[in-house]
Amino acid sequence: MIYVTKSVLDERFLLKKKASPDTFPLVPMSAPDLTDIEREVVQAVLSTPLLSMGPETTAFEEAIRNFTGSRHAIAVSSGTAGLHLCVRAADIEDGDLVITTPFSFVASSNVLLFERAVPIFVDVDPLTGNIAPLQVHQAARDLAEGNSASKKWLPRKGVSEGAPLKALLPVDVFGQPADMDPIRATARQFDLTIIEDSCEALGAEYKNRPAGTLGDYGVFAFYPNKQITTGEGAIIVTDDDDDDAMMRALLNQGRSPGDTWLQHTYLGYNYRIDEMSAALGRAQMSRLDELLTKREQVAGWYQERLDEIAGVETPAIVPSTTRMSWFVYVIRIAPEINRNRVAVALKERGIPNRPYFIPIHLQPYMVERFGYQEGDFPITEDLGRRGLAIPFSGVMTEEQVEIVSEAIGEVIAAI
Ligand SMILES: *Cc1c(COP(=O)(O)O)cnc(C)c1O
Repeated sequence: MIYVTKSVLDERFLLKKKASPDTFPLVPMSAPDLTDIEREVVQAVLSTPLLSMGPETTAFEEAIRNFTGSRHAIAVSSGTAGLHLCVRAADIEDGDLVITTPFSFVASSNVLLFERAVPIFVDVDPLTGNIAPLQVHQAARDLAEGNSASKKWLPRKGVSEGAPLKALLPVDVFGQPADMDPIRATARQFDLTIIEDSCEALGAEYKNRPAGTLGDYGVFAFYPNKQITTGEGAIIVTDDDDDDAMMRALLNQGRSPGDTWLQHTYLGYNYRIDEMSAALGRAQMSRLDELLTKREQVAGWYQERLDEIAGVETPAIVPSTTRMSWFVYVIRIAPEINRNRVAVALKERGIPNRPYFIPIHLQPYMVERFGYQEGDFPITEDLGRRGLAIPFSGVMTEEQVEIVSEAIGEVIAAI
């Protein structure tokens, strides 16, 4: 049986691994969409001596610049690295406050902790799971004015009173853009920087504007389950020339343009992408429309089938999302049905799945540092308790969607 795709390469891989349904489930959780175009460009890099800091990186950046219309695109080694560079470029420092969402992948908050800044969580919109703009505004107003209400936005511990509010860090969750217009208005009013975490949203559009370009900085990530992949990698977009120069220096061990290989103007990192990854990314960008369209079709097949099942909610797309860029497919299980039992029963049938997300404020290290408790962000926690990511990729067949959907229907009927 061939599970992942029908290519010869996959067949060989499966044979070598002595594949069984245990090692390779009938339907994988996710799978990259790769063709001979990708294989050939990566192979071609291996025939050159330039495996880093070469023409493929420049070409990949140019492809993203052309696609987003951003003035600068800066390729890096991961989404986390990209977000961290945005935090550094925005001069977010020890003790600074940044308003962000607890309903996200941990990296969006971790990059603040790397600089000893403090994430200030506000709850999310129940429909989209994206940060709630009204709460962002209220928190920003109270914290910027330092009024008596400001305390209620702060964590129980781990923050000093009177710490300055510096930035907003919204996340385009699951490939649907956050409601950026009111967030931008809040940022303007209180002079805050916006870092848009678009790591899940390459290709999405908010009121016909590309996700990732709606703040001062945007980051797209390319881990293998994202819309396009470079293996590991990401790209930052910004219109600011100085920030572009600073981020390029920081990602390359703090070397400024005049520095030699062993001179370092700044404390920097090795956040460089390599040429094989950049070539892969460039090839995937040439297929972006096809990749997004295929993902959209799979989401459509799911919706058709899952909307028929009582107790399952399919993702809601709001009118401001003029293009959804499907990242994962997360259903919500009705409150009266135990999501965890559904998850286990699906696993027993060989259908992989994942609770999505476990809220950031309830991760052990966040509880320890800031004293968060269950009940602090009720909507986030409700979505976290009911959300279930099911197998999803652009290479899924309609038959695979059928298998998963049927299993979900049967499992829920049995519970
Ligand atoms: C994928 C992702 C990232 C970046 O992840 P890396 O593994 O570091 O590339 C950041 N934020 C969100 C919301 C993500 O989904």
